[in-house]
Amino acid sequence: MKVLRTVLGDVPAEQSGLMLSHEHLLYGYPGAELDPRAALDYDAAVDFVAKQVRRGKENHGYGTIVDMTPPEVGRYPKFMADVAVKTGMNVIAITGFFPERMGIPYYWRRQTVEELTDFFVSDLTVGMVFAWHKTPYKAGAIKIATGQESVTPKPSPLGPNGRHIHEIEDRVIRAAAHAATQVGCAINTHIDPMDFDVTNPLREQLEILVEEGMDPGKVILGHAFVPPQLGAMREVLDMGANVQLDHVGIPWRISSAEELDEAMAVALVELFDAGYGDQITLSFDRWFMNPRAGVTEIDPQLLNEKVDLSYMFTSWVPRLKSKGVTDEQLKKIMVDNPRRIFSIDVPDPVAA
Ligand SMILES: [Zn+2]
Repeated sequence: MKVLRTVLGDVPAEQSGLMLSHEHLLYGYPGAELDPRAALDYDAAVDFVAKQVRRGKENHGYGTIVDMTPPEVGRYPKFMADVAVKTGMNVIAITGFFPERMGIPYYWRRQTVEELTDFFVSDLTVGMVFAWHKTPYKAGAIKIATGQESVTPKPSPLGPNGRHIHEIEDRVIRAAAHAATQVGCAINTHIDPMDFDVTNPLREQLEILVEEGMDPGKVILGHAFVPPQLGAMREVLDMGANVQLDHVGIPWRISSAEELDEAMAVALVELFDAGYGDQITLSFDRWFMNPRAGVTEIDPQLLNEKVDLSYMFTSWVPRLKSKGVTDEQLKKIMVDNPRRIFSIDVPDPVAA
């Protein structure tokens, strides 16, 4: 049977509801968890996030959130589980890593593809480890990430094998392909849009995954619409992979949300018209909680207010409908496609 592997256990894939394929319940750049100014009042933090999640579920029918926060970016398995319990939302956690320039702790940089694979498989099948402790909460997908993003973003330099992917990232991507193939789960990715200036980062990621035997149909390439890169997307769509439309209502590397939303909507319609409607997922990429201590004016990105979950239905869907997008097409990108891609095949339970 097909299941979604949530932090509270496997649920039948039919129970997905509307899915958001890339969000962050709790998010902090590596090191934030050490900052006394960012320390959580745990119960209040769970309540703060659960309130937003519950509103999204009750008012709009969101049923599943994929929390794409990597282990070194504040991933907190119990926190996700407590939000899931309080709200009834399916929360899918991920294993994997952030880009090398921003993440991948030194300890993991020193490990082989095999060791990285074992780490990911353990997160997916045994349970994630948090601050030296084993937890019962499993990840349900893998994240890989590339790109030079930093306070001053710039395109990635040429790395091994003629790609603009760094050496350790390359190893992580190969391990991710091995682990995903073993478990049968999806891989969802982060690219830095700056890299479109020097290459097609979507294709580079996908090529390595496919080299290692990954089914492209289980891969979602993220951030491809920021701003829309139609030619680059078509290359990977034609290879059988999926792309994710994210940053709905959230400006990134482009000054206005209005401008980005409109460009993304136009591109989405073009992809529907070109027959790629079964290969697109949708998300905000917002953080529900990002303890802001230590954020300064040199990093204004972090100070941007994120739109509320209702924005999808007050602004984004009306925008799409005004361009002729149908309810059936909306259902594909919000339900059918993410449900299919994130599903894991497990043996049917034996009848008693
Ligand atoms: Zn994200």
